Amino acid sequence: MGDLQGQTYLITGASKGIGREVSLALARAGARVVLLARNSSELEQTTADVQAIAPNSYATPCDLGVPAAIEEAAQTILANEGAIHGIVHNAGDIHPIKPLFDADAGDWGRSMMVNVVGVQHLTQVLGPALQGEHRVRVTTISSGAALRPLASWSAYCTAKAGLDMWTRCLAEEGREHNITAVSVAPGIVDTAMQTTIRSASEEDFPLRANFVGYHEDGQLSNPEDVAAALFPLMTAHSFEQSGQRFDVRDL
Ligand code: NDP
Repeated sequence: MGDLQGQTYLITGASKGIGREVSLALARAGARVVLLARNSSELEQTTADVQAIAPNSYATPCDLGVPAAIEEAAQTILANEGAIHGIVHNAGDIHPIKPLFDADAGDWGRSMMVNVVGVQHLTQVLGPALQGEHRVRVTTISSGAALRPLASWSAYCTAKAGLDMWTRCLAEEGREHNITAVSVAPGIVDTAMQTTIRSASEEDFPLRANFVGYHEDGQLSNPEDVAAALFPLMTAHSFEQSGQRFDVRDL
């Protein structure tokens, strides 16, 4: 028996990386976990691994860049859940890694959809399961890029900065619904996203060598440790903490 018996948590970007480890940690603590990511064998595998711990957990495949898919996923969730006790908005996409004069407008817009607009849309349509008497904790996974501009990451930096502000807005409006919201930067973590960053061309990404160096110097943390560090914050943050931004390295 864990601390989260009877609670339902929705994790976006649950198929791999940080989201996979967060999902497993929540299942171990007794939560029912709803795993959201695009349809893939990785999502199936992570869902099976979570269900081996928390059998009443399930996946809702969804592309956060597609509004109709968000509506559909939310309907599935609302049909199953009267109340959601926590959301970890963890899904993220680093594309496009391009100087802003070269970036395709559609790719740039899609980054906004996946990294921030989809977060608002999904939360809004899940309103009926969030606005009851019960306590709700929402955690958004931010980035150092929300505070620091990086060449060729204009879409990602802008989206993560927007996500931080969205979290503060939710904290503001959430008080009357017993909802708290925090954002947290996870540090540099050894996941597929870092592989993508290191795979960018020098031409597109002048800072590429820095990220290769972080990897070679062993500076990346592993997603399991990050999930363990995030766990107390995402499951127990307080009204006093609501609206604040954290860095996992300070937790
Ligand atoms: P991964 O690439 O390993 O995982 C990203 C997750 O987001 C996957 O589950 C992926 O699912 C999901 N995702 C991506 N695009 C979509 C989409 N369109 N619709 C639904 N789900 C999507 O990266 P991390 O685990 O590293 O990233 C987790 C979070 O941490 C992100 O928000 C990222 O920005 C943030 N972060 C990561 C850092 C790092 O160093 N790794 C540093 C700072 C922040 P799938 O592709 O299967 O659909």
